[in-house]
Amino acid sequence: MNYGIVGAGIMGRLLAWQLAKRGDSVTLFDRDKIDHGNDNGLAAAYTAAGMLTPISEAESTEAEITTLGLRSLQLWPEIVKQLPQDVDFHQRGSIILAHSNDRPELLNFRNHVARTPAAIERVTQLDSQQITELEPELAKHFNDANFIPGESWLSSQACMSVLAKDLQNMGATLIEQAQIDNIESGQVEHQNQTYKFDCVIDCRGIGAKPDLPTLRGVRGEVVLLHAPEVNIRHLVRLMHPRYRIYIVPRANHHYVIGATQIESSDTSNITVRSALELLSAAYSVHPGFGEANIMHTRVNCRPALPDNLPKITHDSGLMRINGLFRHGFLLAPALAEKAIHLLTNAK
Ligand SMILES: Cc1cc2nc3c(=O)[nH]c(=O)nc-3n(C[C@H](O)[C@H](O)[C@H](O)COP(=O)(O)OP(=O)(O)OC[C@H]3O[C@@H](n4cnc5c(N)ncnc54)[C@H](O)[C@@H]3O)c2cc1C
Repeated sequence: MNYGIVGAGIMGRLLAWQLAKRGDSVTLFDRDKIDHGNDNGLAAAYTAAGMLTPISEAESTEAEITTLGLRSLQLWPEIVKQLPQDVDFHQRGSIILAHSNDRPELLNFRNHVARTPAAIERVTQLDSQQITELEPELAKHFNDANFIPGESWLSSQACMSVLAKDLQNMGATLIEQAQIDNIESGQVEHQNQTYKFDCVIDCRGIGAKPDLPTLRGVRGEVVLLHAPEVNIRHLVRLMHPRYRIYIVPRANHHYVIGATQIESSDTSNITVRSALELLSAAYSVHPGFGEANIMHTRVNCRPALPDNLPKITHDSGLMRINGLFRHGFLLAPALAEKAIHLLTNAK
C-alpha cells in the first residue's frame, strides 16, 4: 500500500516507520525540517521529556490511557532494539516522593492510581532504607516514597532523529518544509501539486486545528539542567499541593525538569513564575540543583481534544490521529498498532 502521512511529530514519524518496516510505501510531509539531530524543531515531540510512565500518569488520567500506555511500555523495548542508534532509553522505574509536610500527597497518589487496578498492583512503597538503596542522595530528605519498577524514558530528540534516519535508510520519501493545508481522502496538495495515495494519514498535532476545530493547545514548559553535583538514576516525581515536578535523568548529569500545564496555546518563552516554580521544586528535591547550569528552556503546546483522550478516525482514504495531549511518546506505539490494524482490515 501507498501511504501519505502529514506531520512528522512522534505519531506520524513512528507510524511511518512501522509501515515502512512492513514494506509499505511511505511519504512523510512536514512543514518543518524533518531531522534536527539533537536540536529543537516545531513538533511538540521535541519538547517532550520522553517519559513512558503509564502507571504514574494513572493518577490523573483515564483508564484508556493506562491501557494504551501499558501496551506501549511493552512495545518500546522492541522498537528501540530495532533502531540503528541509541536513543538513551532506560527502564529503571519511577520514584514518587513528597516532602514530610506533604505526606498526604503520597496517599492521594496511591488512592488515585488505585482507581485503575492494573496500575496500582505495580506500585510498591519504599521505606527510608529502601530509598537509600535506590537513590542514596535523596534519602537525606525523604523517608518514604512510592516506587514503580519498569517505567521508562528516552531522549525524545534522539528518538526523533534516529527514526528520521532509519526512514531514509528504508527508502521512505521525506518531504520537508512543506506546509500542508489541504488534505483529502487519498490526496495531499502542496504548492499546486497533488500527491495521490491509497490512504492519507493526518498526524499534524495542533496544526490540524483547521480540520478539527475542538482541538486545543495546552502549554508546557521544561528546563534542561546540567547538575554535576546531582546523581539521580531513576525518574523522580515530586508530589506537592501546588508545584508538582518530574526530574528525568539524561546522560552526563543532565536532567530535564518539567513540566507546567497551562490552558493556553501561547508558545512564547518560559515565564519567570514557571521557571521559579520548576527550579525551586527541583532544588527542594536535591540541593545540588542549586549549582546546576541552565542549559536551555523549551515551550510547546500539547495537542488536546475536549476529553483529553487520543482519537483515531478512519474513512476510506483518510485517517486522522490526534489528541495525544501529554502522552505522545507514551501512546504512539499502541496507537500505531491500532492504526495499522484499522488500515489492514480496511483493505
Ligand atoms: C513540555 C512538554 C512535555 C512533554 N512530555 C512528554 C513526556 O514526557 N512523555 C510523553 O509521552 N509525551 C510528552 N509530551 C507530549 C507530546 O509531546 C505530545 O503528545 C506529542 O508530541 C504529540 O504528538 P503528535 O505527533 O500528535 O504532534 P507533534 O509532536 O506536535 O507533531 C506534529 C507535527 O505536524 C507538523 N505539522 C503541523 N501542521 C502542519 C502542516 N499544516 N503541514 C505540515 N506539517 C504540519 C508539525 O511541524 C509537527 O512536526 C510533552 C509535551 C510538552 C509540551
